[in-house]
Amino acid sequence: MNSEFRIPFVNLVSKFQPPEVYLNALSETLRSGNFVLSSAVIEFENKIAEYIGVKHCIAVANGSDALFLLMKTMSIGPGDEVITCPNSFIASAWSIVATGAKPVFCDVDESLCMDPQQLERLLTRNTKAIMPVHLAGTPANMQEIMEIANAYNLNVIEDAAQAIGASINGKSVGSLGTAGAFSLHPLKNLAVVGDGGFITTNDSSIAQRVKLLRNHGLKNRNECEIWGYNSRLDELQARIGIIGLARIDSENQRRREIAQYYSDEFINFLQIPSKNRNSTQVFHRYIVHLSERDSFMQYLKDFSIETSIHYPIPIHLQECSKDLKHKIGDFPISEYQSTNSLSLPLYPELLDSEVEYIVETVKSYFKKAL
Ligand SMILES: *Cc1c(COP(=O)(O)O)cnc(C)c1O
Repeated sequence: MNSEFRIPFVNLVSKFQPPEVYLNALSETLRSGNFVLSSAVIEFENKIAEYIGVKHCIAVANGSDALFLLMKTMSIGPGDEVITCPNSFIASAWSIVATGAKPVFCDVDESLCMDPQQLERLLTRNTKAIMPVHLAGTPANMQEIMEIANAYNLNVIEDAAQAIGASINGKSVGSLGTAGAFSLHPLKNLAVVGDGGFITTNDSSIAQRVKLLRNHGLKNRNECEIWGYNSRLDELQARIGIIGLARIDSENQRRREIAQYYSDEFINFLQIPSKNRNSTQVFHRYIVHLSERDSFMQYLKDFSIETSIHYPIPIHLQECSKDLKHKIGDFPISEYQSTNSLSLPLYPELLDSEVEYIVETVKSYFKKAL
């Protein structure tokens, strides 16, 4: 084997090809003389709204702000509780803490997403919203979550940062709850060359409020209606988002094909990803579970395959969560996943030969053990 050979866990250089397309977006931006929240952002928002199947898309500076600003439009703040999952990227819970509200965690099920069976007993007088996370591109069980939310008149904020293009019964995530929050971070399935994000909703008053909040509360150049924030999207990023949107379906399809092949080959050796019924995944991550995770991870590394863990420390056990006073054992499924899960390389730019090499190497680990 050539010593340079390596399959990286992600490859952000191969993601933004060919360079001319991106240089052209830059030159269009320079020629337009508009750099923030102008016509390219509006075009991007219109295209996303159509793609997700909602009335409104409002672009913001990043996915974390998308979550945070949505809760601000719902007047969520100190004294309120928002229910989310402990096995997510830190930003899900951060956005709740940033409003002054308390994150209340709900454990997940095999799909890696919120377990609706455990949701109802977490509701209190202070519960204001539920924030399921479509983790790794797998839609949460939205039918059951929405039934509970509707019964108790609660808002549902979908954290869809990892799941653009995923759907349930043909309806896109981001159109299933009260509103959706998405990220355009370079690591996400739909990515720009820096930070970016957006919200999606059918609720005109939420859309209107996010539009004010992202730009200091200004309703026009000179009149400020409410105190807001600076959470605007750049024109260049919007142009790059439009380029990515045109490719997202074929890229997600390539992700699904690789995932299906992995699952067919690994089913006898590993706990392969599962999903909720009637849902279509987009495999932001391909996450397997096994008890000897660390030795398996080392074996793959010895064979030049980089892997990762999503996430090794659940949010309730992070140092920043110490005031919430959780302990090991509070969320057993999330904790099990943090010590037993492994994310294998899966991205549209993987070559067939690389996919084949990963499959053969994974299988060799288990054959060796027999
Ligand atoms: C990436 C991510 C976010 C935050 O998005 P940023 O654009 O990085 O702020 C929120 N939630 C989840 C689940 C994410 O993966």
